[in-house]
Amino acid sequence: MSARIIDGSAVAGELQQQIKQDVAKLKSENKQLPGLAIVVVSSPKARKNIAELKKRMCEKVGIHCEIHKLNPLSGQDDVIALIEKLNKDPKITGINIHPVPDHIDYRAVVQALDPAKDVEGVHPMNQGNFLIGDKKFIPFTPRAIMRLLESTGEDLKGKRAVIVGRSQHVGLPVGFLLLEKHATVTYAHSRSWYLEDVTRLADILIVAAGHPEMITGSMIKPGAIVIDVGTNIVGGQLVGDVEHHTAQRVAGWITPVPGGVGPMTVAMLLMNLVECCE
Ligand code: NAP
Repeated sequence: MSARIIDGSAVAGELQQQIKQDVAKLKSENKQLPGLAIVVVSSPKARKNIAELKKRMCEKVGIHCEIHKLNPLSGQDDVIALIEKLNKDPKITGINIHPVPDHIDYRAVVQALDPAKDVEGVHPMNQGNFLIGDKKFIPFTPRAIMRLLESTGEDLKGKRAVIVGRSQHVGLPVGFLLLEKHATVTYAHSRSWYLEDVTRLADILIVAAGHPEMITGSMIKPGAIVIDVGTNIVGGQLVGDVEHHTAQRVAGWITPVPGGVGPMTVAMLLMNLVECCE
């Protein structure tokens, strides 16, 4: 048996066409146009070129995009000052903050965001609203994961979903979105005992832990839908958190890395941006 591939690039391509049309409509109606600012404080955590990739995608669909690069020694106050400036810039309708170095408190930076420009849904106000069911700003990686699950055509109701990783912007919120679809949700994390006993129960397995190829085929239930969120650079190559060649023999559906969650995440960021203007 070989799993069917969930082609994130193809789904993202369809979405791109839709976004392009939506932007053209906003233009023709003389409405506020979307504008994205990406804040990058160079750090080992920040993946190179991802900001440029986002900018290229913005250009393809007619969205204004600026990359603001700060040097790695910039302090928290410098980042907050930049965000406050972008909050007031009428060309900018969404601000995307890339992972910051450890000497900067990410939560403090996020609190400086104008919640109306929080295209990632990371401001505490938007996170609170998300939890009580107001889905104005759905964090874009979880949204991308849900769209990929939807593309399989499988009914999620009643299925057992296991999420490996409980980060605020990926693991945790995707669990809430799965609950909304009536899946039975279990979280695993770095302190979970006997991880394979948990993952082997999953009809839907979402892996967002940041460890290259940590989930192997023997840890997957036959026929499961496997979404590999991980992006790790190993020997200059991008690899996921799932060992693709062993997982593919067991799973029913699987996302590749690259070409799975990555392109969809960027497309969903732009979708969030356009919806803010609408
Ligand atoms: P993160 O904030 O570092 O969170 C990692 C999570 O994984 C934590 O909850 C951690 O548990 C858990 N974990 C770590 N080691 C584990 C282990 N051995 N067993 C089980 N759980 C473990 O990472 P993140 O930002 O959520 O990102 C996760 C991965 O997804 C990274 O590779 C990142 O690059 C990738 N990512 C990709 C995209 C995309 O577009 N493709 C978007 C976002 C993230 P604790 O809570 O106990 O520490």
